[in-house]
Amino acid sequence: MDDCLFCRIVRGELPSKKAYEDEDVLVFHDIHPIAPVHLLLIPKAHVDSLADCDTQHQAILGKLMLLAPKLALEHGLTEGFRTMINTGRGGGQEVFHLHLHVFGGGERIPKI
Ligand code: AMP
Ligand code: ZN
Repeated sequence: MDDCLFCRIVRGELPSKKAYEDEDVLVFHDIHPIAPVHLLLIPKAHVDSLADCDTQHQAILGKLMLLAPKLALEHGLTEGFRTMINTGRGGGQEVFHLHLHVFGGGERIPKI
């Protein structure tokens, strides 16, 4: 995935404000945060979207989900946070490398 934005961040070709990294996950701060804390949790291995995941992605999806509350707490979101995965153009996805948004803090997030 040569020209995928997030693959380029994973490879270190583009800068990011890293919050966490291990062998298969990278977490960095969203460049246009919609809340005081806004993290993007991504698998290092490229997959376009949640709609492209299958059983081979079960472990990484679980890992991202379990990392979310841990990193939210580490970033001071003691009152809670919101998770969001935009999927496909109809779901508002703009970067086609699967990512889990984790955000919160400041004003109470409106109910959806
Ligand atoms: P989505 O609309 O779910 O595809 O979200 C893509 C997110 O990536 C948006 O919230 C953007 O602000 C964010 N984003 C785009 N480019 C970068 C970048 N270079 N570094 C960090 N976040 C980015
Ligand atoms: Zn990618």
